Amino acid sequence: MTNTPLTPGIASARLSDEGYTENFADLHAPLEPHEAAVAADRCYFCHDAPCITACPTSIDIPLFIRQIATGTPEAAATTIFDQNILGGMCARVCPTETLCEEACVREAAEGKPVEIGRLQRFATDTVMSAPHPYTRAAPTGKTVAVVGAGPAGLACAHRLAMNGHDVVIHDARPKPGGLNEYGIASYKTVDGFAQAEVEWLMGIGGITLKSGQMLGQGGLTLDALKAEYDAVFLGIGLAGVNALRAAGEGKSGVADAVAFIAELRQAENLAALPVGRNVAVIGGGMTAIDAAVQSKLLGAETVTLVYRRGREAMPASRYEQDLAASKGVRFIFNAMPQEVLGNGAATMLRCEYTRVEDGRVTGTGETFELPADQVLKAIGQTLEGAPEGLELSGGKIAVTGAGRTSMDGVWAGGDCATGGDDLTVTAVAEGRDAAEDIHASIC
Ligand SMILES: Cc1cc2nc3c(=O)[nH]c(=O)nc-3n(C[C@H](O)[C@H](O)[C@H](O)COP(=O)(O)OP(=O)(O)OC[C@H]3O[C@@H](n4cnc5c(N)ncnc54)[C@H](O)[C@@H]3O)c2cc1C
Ligand code: SF4
Repeated sequence: MTNTPLTPGIASARLSDEGYTENFADLHAPLEPHEAAVAADRCYFCHDAPCITACPTSIDIPLFIRQIATGTPEAAATTIFDQNILGGMCARVCPTETLCEEACVREAAEGKPVEIGRLQRFATDTVMSAPHPYTRAAPTGKTVAVVGAGPAGLACAHRLAMNGHDVVIHDARPKPGGLNEYGIASYKTVDGFAQAEVEWLMGIGGITLKSGQMLGQGGLTLDALKAEYDAVFLGIGLAGVNALRAAGEGKSGVADAVAFIAELRQAENLAALPVGRNVAVIGGGMTAIDAAVQSKLLGAETVTLVYRRGREAMPASRYEQDLAASKGVRFIFNAMPQEVLGNGAATMLRCEYTRVEDGRVTGTGETFELPADQVLKAIGQTLEGAPEGLELSGGKIAVTGAGRTSMDGVWAGGDCATGGDDLTVTAVAEGRDAAEDIHASIC
């Protein structure tokens, strides 16, 4: 430890080695078998269970919980994976507080839902180290190209392989997993789980992964893929980021929160990662929360999250907000950045208070300044590199039904496509459903 949280500017090694280890440990410890049995016992095994309806992948939650309760977690895992092959990751990252656990009847009755997420993790973890449990159908002789190895692409590829097709995944990045590998907060997915899960998933066979291959570059075009394969699935996510539109945005110290998190996720040594003494994060979604929390965990003295609307409008759930507050992140609502101040490098952020008029955010003219040697932009991602000729809607690839694009033979799903929330579990559901539709179309 060469620096402290009080070291001015952007600096690395603000904490001791133990400090980093402690801060970036698993957010929720896995359940022990006895704890899982107790948690499973709280389920009423409801008929027409609302938790199933609330799950984007429609996992039969009461069934898998009953399987845990009866001492067969492997069967529970199968119940989960049948619907959601990335059920291990989803158990760690799903905002269950706004999905299944919010819908749980025990949440409505007692304000304490059945711990569905942690039970799902308990079940899926039991089989992740075992051989892959699914076998492939007889070969169909058909081949499908999947572009993007994020949750959407992986779920699509797995289901296609299971149905007997050969799949080739092309991904621009060196490692597969998409935002599971490069985006999700470190403390939600520790010990290299994202790569371990991809390896386990690929254990089905019939899927070839080609990394470092960017659609639109080096001859990898949609036309070429359409000519070579029987179908194409696009799961390219949202690779672009919105601009801050504040003066001084080009100053050093101003960075994109997603890139900051990607660097953190890939860091071999967290002590080598520089972080500001005073960090300001602009935005109100999961990315903003994750950037703010992780800046604090890296040893920033102050982290302030500035959001242009009120707390109730924040896309991040109340649970995520409370998590950030518990780590020491300060929130300023109803304010927007006006100018990054500093001579070449950011030192302060001038913000303007806002109000909402007819649903639109406008400045009130009243300003304040925050110390900020690092400003992280988390104001939304945008579609980048969508192949020409595809119809877009609202900045995403327009799809109908199970991911059918405006082009014959081309499907899309996950964050890059219209419809659904931008969540891991939604991407998995869309990839899976597109695979079934592709299967029905090409066989
Ligand atoms: C910082 C952050 C934190 C998040 N935290 C959570 C969370 O806790 N829980 C949750 O449910 N959701 C979370 N999300 C949202 C979630 O990660 C996404 O909804 C999900 O990853 C979308 O999956 P996808 O497969 O559509 O896209 P991605 O995961 O973005 O994967 C897209 C893949 O396509 C590749 N690609 C892109 N362009 C090209 C191209 N031109 N050619 C080839 N390959 C290409 C990329 O390299 C990438 O591997 C978070 C998002 C961010 C940004
Ligand atoms: S709603 Fe809650 S109690 Fe009912 S089946 Fe789902 S998890 Fe069990």
